[in-house]
Amino acid sequence: MLQVEIPKDNHHKELIACQRACPVHTDARGYVRAIAQGDFEQAYLIARGPNPFASICGRICGAPCEASCRRGHIPRTDQDGCFVTTDRPIAIRALKRFVCESHGVEAKGSDEILQGLREYLPGVAGDAEEMAFLLRGVSRGMFVPAEGERVAIIGSGPAGLSAAHDLALLGFKPVVFEMEPVAAGMLAMGVPEYRLPREVIQREVSVIEALGAEIRCNSRIGADVTFRTLREEFAAVIIAVGAKRSRSLGLPGEPGPAVFGGVDFLRSVALGESLALGSDVIVIGGGNVAYDVARTVVRQAAYDTARMAARLPGTRRVRLVSLETLEEMPADTLEILEGEQEGIERVSGWGPVAIRRGDGGEVSGLEIKRCVRVYDDQRRFSPQFDEEDKQFLEGDTVLIAAGQAPDLSFLEDGGTDVEQFRPGWPKVDPATLMTTAQGVFIAGDLAHGTRLLIDAVASGKRAARSVYQFVTGRTLHPETLTGFIRLDRYQRELGYERIRRVETSTLEAEERLKDPKALVEKCLSEQEAMREASRCLDCGVTPVFDGSRCILCGGCADVCPTLCLKIVPLSSLRETEGLSDIVNSQWGEGIDLQDHSAILKDEDRCIRCALCVDRCPADAIAMERVSFQTEWRNV
Ligand SMILES: Cc1cc2nc3c(=O)[nH]c(=O)nc-3n(C[C@H](O)[C@H](O)[C@H](O)COP(=O)(O)OP(=O)(O)OC[C@H]3O[C@@H](n4cnc5c(N)ncnc54)[C@H](O)[C@@H]3O)c2cc1C
Repeated sequence: MLQVEIPKDNHHKELIACQRACPVHTDARGYVRAIAQGDFEQAYLIARGPNPFASICGRICGAPCEASCRRGHIPRTDQDGCFVTTDRPIAIRALKRFVCESHGVEAKGSDEILQGLREYLPGVAGDAEEMAFLLRGVSRGMFVPAEGERVAIIGSGPAGLSAAHDLALLGFKPVVFEMEPVAAGMLAMGVPEYRLPREVIQREVSVIEALGAEIRCNSRIGADVTFRTLREEFAAVIIAVGAKRSRSLGLPGEPGPAVFGGVDFLRSVALGESLALGSDVIVIGGGNVAYDVARTVVRQAAYDTARMAARLPGTRRVRLVSLETLEEMPADTLEILEGEQEGIERVSGWGPVAIRRGDGGEVSGLEIKRCVRVYDDQRRFSPQFDEEDKQFLEGDTVLIAAGQAPDLSFLEDGGTDVEQFRPGWPKVDPATLMTTAQGVFIAGDLAHGTRLLIDAVASGKRAARSVYQFVTGRTLHPETLTGFIRLDRYQRELGYERIRRVETSTLEAEERLKDPKALVEKCLSEQEAMREASRCLDCGVTPVFDGSRCILCGGCADVCPTLCLKIVPLSSLRETEGLSDIVNSQWGEGIDLQDHSAILKDEDRCIRCALCVDRCPADAIAMERVSFQTEWRNV
């Protein structure tokens, strides 16, 4: 018996895996297909619609869309039809960068960007026109804007600024308080310049200011302004302070000189302050932040050496010690590979025991022990060690990049009603992001723990909607209109199913080290981008079957290159929710299931080639595009 799944009402939407995986539901398929068709302006507007940080995401987004891209799961077979491997996902992030470089903040001023978004009519692109909608929604009376009430936001990271962006569009006057001299949180203070140019950040922030958000830098809540004052003077407060403090490991020898937090080190580099690093640096951590730290040290070292020329010919050694083995390391494979090219040595599968210091207090090295297991059977972090297997790594500086924690000490004055479920982490209503204190919301890393920049953006936007509801007493409700368009002349690019993923090229390792700010990743050329975009399976288009016309010839199943179609007797299907309803509505109750058939489609394998449509002699199959438009309305 076969177990089947009956498509639900939102089936078509669910099929667009890239859009579903994106925390702000960017219609990645929409902009990738627009790039394939050479419509770059349209592609940018689709990408920018729901995401105030589209250009930044084009450079550094963790790209959950790519991880779920259906093309990445399609089996590749050899000439004999034997499974070789799965295909690779579409390079969605690199495509976003391509289109932002020519039509985003990199190429245009704030006014031009905003004008484009105001005039943007999404057509059939998808439901990612959110910003354009917010702008039009006011003029079309779909929701009543706020009346310029002031909302305080603590922290100008992606969560705080996304909240400010949407609050401005909803009719508020958002004021962002930032303790650092520059805005953008970890994007400016953590992510190294060799991955994200500072000018792109500034330009993206300028658009948010142009919408009416005020950003007050060098303004620390708890020191320059009290939390109590914010609550008294603003209609609502959003706390979006991220997790800024490097977590200490509590190792013997840890407190003292030459031991630094990883994010503290990155911050000092970002601000042009120099921390006194030695020549033999050990970085503790196995994630992307540890690599940002180690690769920044390598660059600083190479730069210093070049500046000192013959006077100081020695280079530094940088070693990265992780609990995880190479296969288990949470860092992206690309980070590990590029780090290796730049000379970072890995000591994988070892845990720190103690930082040893000499008589004068100077660091002499790190004692480590073999880690035999990092995660338990339920994949929970639960490291175990072989206490007998120890070694000593010589070194004069230790940087710890093993997690971060928030600092909420400012709550002491005026925020004691913000309850915390564990120190530093407030209790929060997951639907509204409101804390236990009326009118106090949280967003970003503080709300969900350290994740990706795009998660922080989504969270900031959600907090903005909740503030709207709290302050105005009106709710904003998304109403999605779904349309189906029959595509009579549907055609794909020739040979699109055979095209291999176009890899982005990178600067040679020696070139990277000559300038700490030299961008490692290059942008796709127009030709590369269009070729890569043409690989997209366009999951918003799907073959639909008209059972009343089908003559059960089986031609569609025979011609399907991925064997995703099957015609089977109804009697071979295991009863499942919704199946009898469909059978009864089609043929009436009490039929002999042996006499009737069903066409089964494996959605994971279908590559939307439309060969089944061409082959069908009874015109029983058509390609259909689904399009969504979401309008936010007051209810
Ligand atoms: C080194 C590093 C590299 C990363 N790389 C990537 C990447 O490549 N891709 C990706 O998707 N994600 C990446 N991330 C994750 C991403 O940057 C974060 O998830 C995101 O920045 C969190 O946003 P946020 O707004 O919640 O907090 P933050 O970005 O941390 O912003 C919080 C802001 O609040 C300010 N603040 C704190 N306390 C106060 C106070 N008392 N008064 C005033 N202001 C205050 C801080 O100065 C800061 O500017 C990286 C993170 C780090 C640390």
